Formats: sequence, structure tokens, C-alpha cells
Amino acid sequence: MSGLYARESRSVSKMAHLRFFPQAIVGGNGAYVTGDDGRQLLDFAASWGAASLGHAHPAVRDAVNRALSDQAGASYLSAANEACVLLAEKLLSLVPERARGRVWFGHSGSDANETVARMVVTATGRPRIIAFDGAYHGGTVGSMAVSGHPAQQGTRAKGLTLVPYPNSYVAGSPEAAKDAALAHLERLFATEVPPEEVAAFFIEPIQSDGGMLVPPEGFLEAVEALCRRHSILLVSDEVKVGLGRSGRFNAFEHAGIEPDIVVFGKGLGGGLPISAVVGPEPILNHAVAFSLQTVHGNPVCAAAALAVLETIERDHLIENAERTGHALGDALRGLAERHALIGDVRGRGLALGVELVTDRTTREPAARQTALTVFRAFQLGLVLYYVGVRSNVLEFTPPLTLTQGQALEGAAILNQALADVVAGRVDESLLVNFAGW
Ligand SMILES: *Cc1c(COP(=O)(O)O)cnc(C)c1O
Repeated sequence: MSGLYARESRSVSKMAHLRFFPQAIVGGNGAYVTGDDGRQLLDFAASWGAASLGHAHPAVRDAVNRALSDQAGASYLSAANEACVLLAEKLLSLVPERARGRVWFGHSGSDANETVARMVVTATGRPRIIAFDGAYHGGTVGSMAVSGHPAQQGTRAKGLTLVPYPNSYVAGSPEAAKDAALAHLERLFATEVPPEEVAAFFIEPIQSDGGMLVPPEGFLEAVEALCRRHSILLVSDEVKVGLGRSGRFNAFEHAGIEPDIVVFGKGLGGGLPISAVVGPEPILNHAVAFSLQTVHGNPVCAAAALAVLETIERDHLIENAERTGHALGDALRGLAERHALIGDVRGRGLALGVELVTDRTTREPAARQTALTVFRAFQLGLVLYYVGVRSNVLEFTPPLTLTQGQALEGAAILNQALADVVAGRVDESLLVNFAGW
């Protein structure tokens, strides 16, 4: 264990920790971070996707420098600032017509989803919200209240109903998964959840923390149709898989749906804290002083976000996510031919997941092997984490700037890590302090 990592434990609380190995970093550039031991590690996590352009991207650095050298205050609560106005105008141009109303700015996916959850109930007068089992919408009281991830230690909202997210792998086929999930929804609407009482339906267009689940074809379209029929607001949580990561700007575009409200976070600030909610004017303007934190609308973070959006366009990073994602996906499917531990490879663009199982027939989750694999990969020079309600899905959310060479470099390290785990070359006791989630 490195010096910095050990020292951290004597001053920094563990309450925000979600650790998989003893990583301590002192710098980073592009798709690599520098450990305090001097090692260069290839970063396939990008801080859970937040470092969307990689580390120390010059466009973000220049934007932040400019914004700080003549700083337009620190907040949009009591004064307009140009960066926020420009960013709002830009975001409005990037969502479907029905969401093209107003933009609210926050710090994180959590405060954004919490704001949406409060806002839709107050604005519509309908008390209920629907979200998915396994959904991660945030870590604050109000965002946990509308989430369904089993690792969370919080209570759910009284008006929340969780419904199954279709899992094509576990169900055996996309059709079976879709039919079961839709039948469940229709039954609920006909019985204990009167649809006219539902304010909003929260979706993740790919359920990332729940296991990088890609919805079956036609599923989100059917959810959209149900929402329209009952005037339920459709909320797309694009926090992890949006902003080009999936190979489209918005991940919901793969399904051809048009949500009423779109939530952005993580990669929006390119590593700085900023989130945004985009939606209809009557909902987003239904009250003043309703959801605010002092440094919301910080012009420095907004300038970084503008630079991120401009760079995604200028450098064709959506196309890169699609192309490099294909290369990485192909490499991972190649690994599946060599390693029986791999049960499924899925995802879109540079939002990919690899589900590990002890038995391909029973699909028994290989949680221990998953934890060992990410630990071993770290030792070998690759940073990636795992997700999933059964803690057995390797998650790939690298910078959108990843090159095909880096994709293959990472896949080669993962190949070695899997081989080492299967051969018993990784010491299980390493995991003692790394419970993950
Ligand atoms: C991470 C995440 C959030 C919460 O974002 P924070 O920045 O952690 O507050 C919300 N929704 C999704 C889909 C996420 O992946």
C-alpha cells in the first residue's frame, strides 16, 4: 500500500469511499492517471465517467483559466452570469422539442434528480413516482428516495413504486425480459398504482450501476407510450451514459423516444462539479427559490461544461465513442471466447459492461472473482470498477477521447487479470479492506 493511501485513512472519512483497491493518484493526462508510486495507469473508469474528456484536457483547462481570471461571481442564485446562459442555450439545443423549456443547474446527478423528484410532484399535484429496481439516481436523501439500487443505505419515498428493469441476460432473451417487465407495469397501472396519480417515470436509458443493462428493443418505446397515454412525465437520467458516451448525444436516442425531462451530470463538467435538468417551462418555472444551493450555477464550472460540449462536437467524440466502443466491445467479446468466467458482454459506445458468472448455464454471479479481477487489473496497470445489483459486472466508462490502441491495451491487461484470477494467482486476502458495493 502506498504512502498517500495509508496517510489518507488518518485524516479523511471513509463515508464517501467506494474502494476496490488501494489507489492513490497524484496526476493524470488523457486516458492515464499517475499513481503516487509513479506508475501510469490506464483509466477505464474516468472517475465513474466524470472525466469525460480524460484528465487535464486543454480545452477544460483553458476555459477554467479564462473564467477564473475575470470571475463572474460564484453563483447564479442572485445574479445572472454569461457562462450559465450560454450553457443553458446550448443544452436546450441538444434535447428534443418537448423538453426544450428551461434549464436548472446543480452540482451533481444527485441534487439534479432530487430536484426533479420534488419538482414533478409539486408542479403536477400527482403524488407518485415510478423508477426501476436497481436504478441509481443519487446519494442524497431525496435522490436515494427515488432510486432502487440495493447497495444504498437510505429509505425510499412513500410515493415511489419500483418496477423491474428488463434484464435480457437473466431472462434468457430480450423479448422475454421486455414482455415480463411490460406485463408487470400494465398490471400495476390496472391495480395498486393508478396512473393518473403518477407524476413522473424515471428511466436510465442504460441501467449502469444496476449492471450496465441495455433495454430490449421496443421497451423504452412502450414505456414512453404508457407515459403519454397517462400524461406521466418521462424523465431520462443521462447522468452516466449521456453526453455522447453511448455513441449518440443522448442515450435515449437509441430508442427513438422523447423524454419530457433530461438530467445531465458526471461528464458534463469534464471533472468539475455541475449538473443540469432540462425540461418544460411550466414545470421548471413553477416556483422560485425552490431548489437552490449557494454555489449552484458557478460560472467556472459552467465554463468547463461549455468547453466539454464544444470539444465533444469539434473533436467528433460521439463518433469516437461509437467507433472505439466497437473496438473495445469486439476485444471484450474476444476475451469471452477465452474465459468461461465471462457470461455476457453488453453496452453501447463507451458504456460497456462484462458480467462474470461461475457457470454460464445457471448464470451464477461471480462476485468474488469480479472483485479479484478489478484488483488484479489495477496491479497490472488498468483502472476499472464493477457495478450490478449482484456485484458481478465490470464497468467500462473510459474517457470519450480513448483511442483504439488504448482500448486494446486495456483489453490485453484485462485478459491477463482474468487468467490470473482463474489460475488462483491473486491472493484473496487482498480484498479484506475492499468491500466495494
Ligand atoms: C452517478 C449517477 C447519479 C448521481 O450522480 P452524482 O454525481 O453521484 O450525484 C445519478 N444518476 C446516474 C444514472 C448516475 O450514474
